[in-house]
Amino acid sequence: MRPILATISYSALNNNLKIVKGHAPKSKVMAVVKANGYGHGLLNVAHGINEADGFAVLSLGEAIDLREAGFQQTILLLEGVFSKTEMAIAASFTLDVVVHSIPQIEMLEAIKFNKPVTVHLKMNTGMNRLGFVPADYLTAYNRLQACKNVSQIVLMTHFATADEDIGIAKPLQLFQETTQGLENARSLANSATILRHPEAHVEWVRPGIMLYGASPVTGTPAVEFGLQPVMSLTSEIICVQTLQAGESVGYGHRFTASKATRVGIVACGYADGFPRHAGQYCVDDDQYGIPIAVNGKLTQTIGRVSMDMLFVDLTEIPEANIGTPVELWGKIVPVDVVAEACGTVGYELLCAVAPRVPFNIEDGEALNG
Ligand SMILES: *Cc1c(COP(=O)(O)O)cnc(C)c1O
Repeated sequence: MRPILATISYSALNNNLKIVKGHAPKSKVMAVVKANGYGHGLLNVAHGINEADGFAVLSLGEAIDLREAGFQQTILLLEGVFSKTEMAIAASFTLDVVVHSIPQIEMLEAIKFNKPVTVHLKMNTGMNRLGFVPADYLTAYNRLQACKNVSQIVLMTHFATADEDIGIAKPLQLFQETTQGLENARSLANSATILRHPEAHVEWVRPGIMLYGASPVTGTPAVEFGLQPVMSLTSEIICVQTLQAGESVGYGHRFTASKATRVGIVACGYADGFPRHAGQYCVDDDQYGIPIAVNGKLTQTIGRVSMDMLFVDLTEIPEANIGTPVELWGKIVPVDVVAEACGTVGYELLCAVAPRVPFNIEDGEALNG
């Protein structure tokens, strides 16, 4: 078997859930498991944090997968549904739906369901992505309130700048003013809001990235929040080459050795989800690639990432050979560090782990047993 593997740690997942609860002890936790559990596997994650009060996903399919796996918690469709038929199916599976548009209200009004649904009514407080602007929010609220298919309305918004210096004061105030006098449950906080803005810890919180042990705040390492990485993406060296000075490596010969250099070939490439542009600026050995751990020691990638393989510098790791373990990201190299070196965020790398990468649960038995 090709040695690439994504290993999921349930103890890290539970540690991170505890961090959420430590910050927002009075809130119910809606674990955001969209995008296949941020690339960790929807059911892998759900089984690992069965203690969550709810799960938030994007598609009806994901929600039904969770129901069929036996999860009885609240399950929320974060963009709501896209047709009347989907609305009826959502109701039949007792799914909560976000309502962010007039057509979605019309879907709720169109036919009578056997079971009314809980609606999370989304307010646009400045993200300008989904939701009713404050001026239209109460009209939408009243219409849902009058709809027989609606059992409960949760008041919801999503902040655009919870991770930035500017914070959430203005959108939060807008939300509070607009919903003044309403006694409904509310749902406001993503990971950055949970970690930075306790004033927005209301009845529900919606952590995503922090559950997976990556940082929602660029520039603040996850470890500073007490978070532990849930995924370790590992592989092995499958070949070693020794370059003489002047010899180059990989497509486009993007790396040329200035001295004799041992190079390890790792079984992981962009078709596994490793970013191709990692190390693209590495044109000679004065310039560093991105951090990677070989045999537990930090080194760097060199040259261009191929579809199925990438190159690492073994100069300082003479013991490395075929079969030596490599960590692409995980406990030694935080995914956020790799992401930063590629001009992106941990979210994107985690979500992009390719379907061909097999998964393994490190400590699942202990926790599920
Ligand atoms: C994705 C998402 C979240 C979780 O965000 P994180 O930054 O990963 O914590 C919460 N709420 C909504 C509406 C989302 O779309």
